[in-house]
Amino acid sequence: MPLGQHYRVEGLVRLSEGRMFYLVDDDRPDVRTRRCGHCRSELTPREATACVTCGYPLGERQRYLMSVRWDRRYYEAYSRFYEKQFEHPAILRPDDVLMHDGLLCSLVRYQDEGLLIDQVAPLHARELLELAMRLAGVVAWLHRQGISMHRVDRANLLVRRNARHPLLFDPDVQEVFPGEVPGEFRTQEIRSIGRMLRYLTPVDRPDLLQFFLDAEDGGFASPEAFGREAERLAEQLEPTPLPRGIAAMSDVGLARILNEDSWGWTQLDERTRLYVVADGMGGHDSGEVASDVAVRTILQGAQERFEALPAPTPEALENLLDEAFQAANNQVKAVAEERQNDMGTTLVALLIRDHLALLANVGDSRAYLLRDERLHQITQDHSLVAKMVEQRRITAEEARTHPYANVLLRTVGTERDVDIDIFQLELEPGDRLLLCSDGLWGEVEGEEMERILNTWRDARACAWELIQAAHRGGGKDNITVLIVTVPRSGGR
Ligand code: CA
Repeated sequence: MPLGQHYRVEGLVRLSEGRMFYLVDDDRPDVRTRRCGHCRSELTPREATACVTCGYPLGERQRYLMSVRWDRRYYEAYSRFYEKQFEHPAILRPDDVLMHDGLLCSLVRYQDEGLLIDQVAPLHARELLELAMRLAGVVAWLHRQGISMHRVDRANLLVRRNARHPLLFDPDVQEVFPGEVPGEFRTQEIRSIGRMLRYLTPVDRPDLLQFFLDAEDGGFASPEAFGREAERLAEQLEPTPLPRGIAAMSDVGLARILNEDSWGWTQLDERTRLYVVADGMGGHDSGEVASDVAVRTILQGAQERFEALPAPTPEALENLLDEAFQAANNQVKAVAEERQNDMGTTLVALLIRDHLALLANVGDSRAYLLRDERLHQITQDHSLVAKMVEQRRITAEEARTHPYANVLLRTVGTERDVDIDIFQLELEPGDRLLLCSDGLWGEVEGEEMERILNTWRDARACAWELIQAAHRGGGKDNITVLIVTVPRSGGR
């Protein structure tokens, strides 16, 4: 498909929140001249392989990565940003910016980049803090140039091969001020960076989880203050290996524009960890709010209740889970009432203390156990089709494609009290637990999930493969997977 005066779209690379990424080239035999991505000269004849103005090699064709966005509110601010002439080693300036069918398109020469979006959590503590310091530095620098962003998220970060750090690309510029950015506009980027980095933090680093949560809650008055704290934490770091058995990944899928799934984890004490996955619903930008509020509330509620427990017996932990679910329910319901909409979310939680696992769920996000190479579904869906299968009115196979497949009978945030199911398991060495949203199990057969979980022992590789399998199945919904492996011997 031709694009603008010089380009041709090769194909969609991927969708992410608020962005579409395409591969583009300048293979346009219908145009007599080529545009140089380096000096922006448009004088080079079609058949030349180097720019006639600056000598930059153009090859037979130039390839570009193009980020396309459709939120018109910030088009004007972005074009003023683009017109500013500046260089910074951590910022990828677009080689071209154009409007196409009312969409804003930013192009950079393509060099086999990946997007930070594709990272599977967790990252090493050191990588995380280095990223935090670097992003704080870039944001502070942009503020001095008068540029503020309304957020920085994974869709803005490009990982270039051989480059040590990701580069800021197609930033969500909010405002271009004549002088420096005024003090009151200097906090929103750090909130979004805190949120992004919290998702990438290992579960056994409650100190870092708390640091990023503080940043997300607006605990830092400037990027400089955030960067200094990251530096202080980095100085205290001991080298710790990344746990190989735990990973999480959330992906927008191939058809949706927003990711309404959320996940999170926390370490309650040395022996106890909590993992959760939520799949929000409600449309009009509220599904992702519902799932995020539920995840944050349940993690925080569990932490507070755990600290107040006289003894963490299995019964006490079951009560704690139940109460934390009720707290999440009340909080989502309060936000829904405040916004006057009907948002809700599923919620599946896994609490592990030593060899005891407690699983709890509401809705149709699921927990599975892989034991002795066999996959078992632990939770039961609270959905209309699950009920119909139970009553033998339809088969499990028919349920997957049934028109009412999305109708849930129970969700978090829609009723005054919510009924939760709790399952208790005695874990064995080598067990694997999988929490996932319906974007995974709706696209991938149980046998295929079992095969992938048996093939990839590294949890990060495994999470990645599961997401790819969901894409092959159609990728019609957001996909979230969270994998926890019980070590075969030694350690926890
Ligand atoms: Ca879903």
